[in-house]
Amino acid sequence: MSRGCVFAESTPAFPVDEGKFRAANPLEPHLMPATTGGIVNLYNEGTRGRWYWQCPDCDGLFEPTYDRLDCNRDLDPGEAGDTAVMVCPHCGSVLPHRHKAELNRRAAQHHGGWLHEGRSVDEATGQRRLVRIDDADIRNTPFASYGFNGVAAAFSSWSGLVERYETARRSFEIDGDDLDFAGVHYTEIGVPYRRPKDGDEDDLTVEALRDHALRLPKGVAPSWARFVTVMVDVQGNRFEVMVMAWGQKGERVAVDRFAIHQPPDEAPSAKGDDGKYRAVDPGRYAEDAWVLAELVDRVYPVDGADWGLKPVAVVIDFNGPKGWSDNAEKFWRRQAREGRGRRFFLSIGRPGFNQRDRVWHEAPERASGGKKARGIKLLNMAVDRLKDSVSAALGRFDTTVGAQHIPVWMDAEHVAEHLAERRGEKGWEPRKGILRNEGFDHSVQGLALAEHLGLNRVNWEAPPAWCLAGLSNPNAVQLERPGDPDSARVRPEPELPRSINFLRRR
Ligand SMILES: [Zn+2]
Repeated sequence: MSRGCVFAESTPAFPVDEGKFRAANPLEPHLMPATTGGIVNLYNEGTRGRWYWQCPDCDGLFEPTYDRLDCNRDLDPGEAGDTAVMVCPHCGSVLPHRHKAELNRRAAQHHGGWLHEGRSVDEATGQRRLVRIDDADIRNTPFASYGFNGVAAAFSSWSGLVERYETARRSFEIDGDDLDFAGVHYTEIGVPYRRPKDGDEDDLTVEALRDHALRLPKGVAPSWARFVTVMVDVQGNRFEVMVMAWGQKGERVAVDRFAIHQPPDEAPSAKGDDGKYRAVDPGRYAEDAWVLAELVDRVYPVDGADWGLKPVAVVIDFNGPKGWSDNAEKFWRRQAREGRGRRFFLSIGRPGFNQRDRVWHEAPERASGGKKARGIKLLNMAVDRLKDSVSAALGRFDTTVGAQHIPVWMDAEHVAEHLAERRGEKGWEPRKGILRNEGFDHSVQGLALAEHLGLNRVNWEAPPAWCLAGLSNPNAVQLERPGDPDSARVRPEPELPRSINFLRRR
């Protein structure tokens, strides 16, 4: 056994006493929160044995748990791990890691060792007595169960454990995605993990978001903007678009939000005999997607500056009405032929928390229904993990790090879209009464794109060009009149024809 774990084995010698299975908690010191079901339930229904050490200084018995490890958490995870020591809860004695083998050896000689829950209550502590497996006072259950904390495990060092724990805890704090943190609990320490009840998440309301809204005119990026992303959600009769500006360390805010209803003139029967445009029909007409091409050329003035930002890329939902995926692929291939393949991404959501990563860009290995696999790469998004992050980002009112602001111009209905879902055990689910969730989906797409581009790897002391402020940023454009995107001085981009001209030519 090299790590923490929970296990049970049959002990038919003891009669079953069903009534005692679920007594009150103070008397059941080792009742584990059964968040995972299965083995933890078995553990709780067994004798709940734990592995104890005896303090060499005060002879007190205690369970070596992760919580009893002391280290300097102000240090980087690796260095914090090197400072880890066990502290006796009785006398405060400090036990360095090199004593672990000896403490385990002594425990095996009954200076500690496996202690199970008894039936009688210890007068002094008010808790159930701890007894050995052969004690007649042992808990009345049909089997013995054991919980072994990874801290006592022979082959996992405290320094490595603390390093992995602190790394996972810190990344959870930043992005709200606790998959790795939960994993450290389950597989390294061997204790159940319960996601901390995120007060913000439940308290988050449209009012709270609007109370903290960022004062900025629609269409204008904040002074701290470093890059802009465009996210497109595809509906049967329209494209829903959100534009987001990103600052340092994941700070972001929506700078535009609109729907495109009208097909381009080049599309089949774009106008009826009455001269009116039909609605876009993305599943039916491949040409309708051409209206999306110019999104990557729009300029968003930066507040108070004489320059603006063009989007670093546009991410478009690959899922949509019937027929859309084929049309989306045609659209992307067309952009790629024009040399703009790196400015457009097609995104696909992968639900469930147990995804291999948060974001990955690759071509599907096999198409469904025996069709030939698509040769284009898709931006795969672990949507439930990313939704954890977006939800945490929206509730971050006290810091700019990783915070997603709501802009003042956004109306209540569009703000509510960000709160359209609630977190379930297996994933995020629609909330009753809120039908539209585009804002939430857009936020997820934007985060996926930003992470794919390398957001989490940026060194903000020396950022890459696409994260620079000012005209040294390759997506920055000089404005003749500050705040006016129409006054953009067009940069020569030999390989990228202006898309308006490009559309008109055809
Ligand atoms: Zn002690």
